[in-house]
Amino acid sequence: MNPTQTPEEVVQEQAGDATDKPLFSLELTQDQKDVKEWAHGFAEGVIRPAAHEWDEKEEFPWPVVQEAAKIGLYGFEGVAQFFADESGLTLPIVNEEIFWGDAGIGMAIMGTGLAVASIFGQGTPEQMGEWIPQCYGTEDDVKVAAFCASEPDAGSDVSAVRTVAKYDEANDEWVINGQKAWATNGGIANVHVVIASVDRELGSRGHAAFIIPPNTPGCSQGSKVKKHGIRASHTADVHLDDCRIPGNCLLGGKEKLDERLARVREGKRAKSQAAMATFEASRPIVGSQAIGIARAAYEYALDYAKERRQFGKAIIENQSIAFDLANMALEIDAARLLVWRASWMGRNQVPFNHAEGSMSKLKSGQVATWVTERAIQILGGNGYTREFPVERMHRDAKIYDIFEGTAEIQQLVISRAISGVHIK
Ligand SMILES: Cc1cc2nc3c(=O)[nH]c(=O)nc-3n(C[C@H](O)[C@H](O)[C@H](O)COP(=O)(O)OP(=O)(O)OC[C@H]3O[C@@H](n4cnc5c(N)ncnc54)[C@H](O)[C@@H]3O)c2cc1C
Repeated sequence: MNPTQTPEEVVQEQAGDATDKPLFSLELTQDQKDVKEWAHGFAEGVIRPAAHEWDEKEEFPWPVVQEAAKIGLYGFEGVAQFFADESGLTLPIVNEEIFWGDAGIGMAIMGTGLAVASIFGQGTPEQMGEWIPQCYGTEDDVKVAAFCASEPDAGSDVSAVRTVAKYDEANDEWVINGQKAWATNGGIANVHVVIASVDRELGSRGHAAFIIPPNTPGCSQGSKVKKHGIRASHTADVHLDDCRIPGNCLLGGKEKLDERLARVREGKRAKSQAAMATFEASRPIVGSQAIGIARAAYEYALDYAKERRQFGKAIIENQSIAFDLANMALEIDAARLLVWRASWMGRNQVPFNHAEGSMSKLKSGQVATWVTERAIQILGGNGYTREFPVERMHRDAKIYDIFEGTAEIQQLVISRAISGVHIK
């Protein structure tokens, strides 16, 4: 330090050009605040009032998704706009608000995003331009998309995928055969993105992602799954029987696939694996959905605890209830900070050296499951009934310990990343 400099000059010199742009801020921009308020308004006015009905019906809430499309919350342009935010925060902010409204309907609105993330992550610019709009349809003719990686015998172990894609050179077509399990929007989707093996000997390194265009013969819905939670979201098996698709439906193109397979066969590292690349990018967003559920349950329980009187006083005046609420608020904020960090890292291509994406998803799932359980406890008998929403929120929250990589798989990914040891 030059002894003639004032502290302000030292700070300015060290910060360089960045002085007019804070290096670190947790304050949302006006745009982010506006988007948050807009999404919250839709969640409060349209989603929440419909939540109980669609949960009970266990059907896909097309009218609500159409409403979302009308205001630009569901659709290609909206998602492109949320993604454009360089901080990476707009997407998790919007997801948190929507899932605060209701997780089943939230998944009906946001489930298409997983297929879109795959096309965005692995497709060529032409493929993105052709298929992403078809995933959403239009305001007047809303469509959804499905991402199909899991199979009956390939859940956590993605390398066990048995669905096979064979190239028919004479017709420049891929022929896909297999059965997919648990696909969100499976069978009702306009566009299915399917992970299939092009070389089974290579395990997950021999996988590729394919677009199944609308109404392709051989692609059909299997059993629809009856679920514990997120019941407004459609989940089903997808059957692929001699399903023929044009050669250019291989995401990324054949040349790139052949190059990658050649590298793997030579014993070199493949740059990315199809399903893994999709999950990596989407984990913090999934985390933000869990936070939305947790916040909804926490807010409901907080209001209830102030209103409900036992032994002549509001139940919040008991430390055990108040401390639970304090810890619920604390855990939700902690999880959100992890989600925002990982979203910022993902958007700005900062490598996830310590599996920060997995950390954010793991923590958010744990927080959502715990907070919603505590919310039931704070509501007592009422919490256990379907007359009060925290029961639904608890059922909805549990999926966040399971899909997009179970809690154990996230721990595996994190422990490998922090240790460099191939922990099993
Ligand atoms: C509602 C819902 C929606 C879904 N949506 C989609 C979708 O859109 N697309 C899609 O492709 N998939 C989807 N899935 C599938 C989901 O991703 C899988 O269920 C999940 O990956 C877990 O796989 P599994 O169910 O086969 O469990 P398993 O892999 O059989 O795991 C069972 C248990 O064993 C544990 N376990 C497994 N391996 C290990 C290990 N090595 N170390 C420690 N513990 C381990 C797991 O953590 C878990 O607790 C969905 C699932 C559900 C329930």
